[in-house]
Amino acid sequence: MNPRPSFSQAESEFGLIDWIRRQRTGAAHPGTVMGIGDDCAILGLAPGAQLLVTTDMLMDGRHFRLEADGPEAVGRKAMGVNISDIAAMAGEPRAALVAVALPRDAGVMIAQGLHRGLAAMAERFGVDLVGGDTNAWDGPLVITVTLLGQTTSRGAVRRGGAEPGDVVLVTGPLGGSLRGGRHLRPEPRVREALALHARAELHAMIDISDGLSSDLGHILEESGNLGAVLDAGAIPIHEDALAQAAADGIPALEHALNDGEDFELCVVTAAETAAELLARPPAPARLYRVGTIIAEPGLWLRQSDGTQGRIEARGFDHFRGPQAGPVR
Ligand code: ADP
Ligand code: MG
Repeated sequence: MNPRPSFSQAESEFGLIDWIRRQRTGAAHPGTVMGIGDDCAILGLAPGAQLLVTTDMLMDGRHFRLEADGPEAVGRKAMGVNISDIAAMAGEPRAALVAVALPRDAGVMIAQGLHRGLAAMAERFGVDLVGGDTNAWDGPLVITVTLLGQTTSRGAVRRGGAEPGDVVLVTGPLGGSLRGGRHLRPEPRVREALALHARAELHAMIDISDGLSSDLGHILEESGNLGAVLDAGAIPIHEDALAQAAADGIPALEHALNDGEDFELCVVTAAETAAELLARPPAPARLYRVGTIIAEPGLWLRQSDGTQGRIEARGFDHFRGPQAGPVR
């Protein structure tokens, strides 16, 4: 086997971009007029659709550990977390741009590994890779994916539409995503969101990236400083949260409330709508009723005996520093 090309020569950047271009990653959507290879990509949108745009940066040592996780897993996560943001608006993902700062030493090898992960997710979710930016430096890997999507004819579902009396639903069990590396393998709920949105009027929606308590908190804030009561016995707890609880002694329910990166959806609808959805969930969505929206601000946890106590949003916050949680 030939030694891997060093990334220190300028030609390697273009060689790498050529290699990426030849992979023809994605669904080759008819609206993709120009992908990689010009100064900008050109995309057509369905008539009447609105453009959804989101971006997320992942840094070695913060959101992943390149050494342990490998570049393919990093690529999968980088694409997955962005697709999840499009799902959270009930949009259809369409096209991605990938900007990388590659460690100079093994840059090409890392880039090709990243691409395998990015491409696997792009293909599954109908995303065309239409461009990016490639840099190398003497620092750790940083990857930023920018994802473009479009709304359906029903428009986007935002965070700000919850009302007192509404019901809070989630699409799957929560907690412990760091355990076994599940945080590296997001399963964006795109089809679930589209099916829910096609069937029912959704008042508000968010993907659970920072933890249910924090992400529901965002909905409450954006909806005009409302509150919510969560039913302790109704929160679906992931088996990873149980394993995590056994290992660290923190109750599994706390993991379900505060751990992040489950990438399930938190959906708020009118009570009658929620009852209909729960009785007959539109495939492939699974739904769990976890609580209700109230007019008074604050987040409350109600026990099965009816007593309730105030809880804090304790999900992940980058500015709280490294003690706020393990490297993610
Ligand atoms: P420019 O200097 O005009 O920005 P570049 O040489 O940076 O052009 O990029 C050439 C083409 O390759 C562009 O279409 C750009 O979007 C694409 N590209 C660069 N890096 C990547 C990457 N890592 N993944 C996908 N496309 C890339
Ligand atoms: Mg460029």
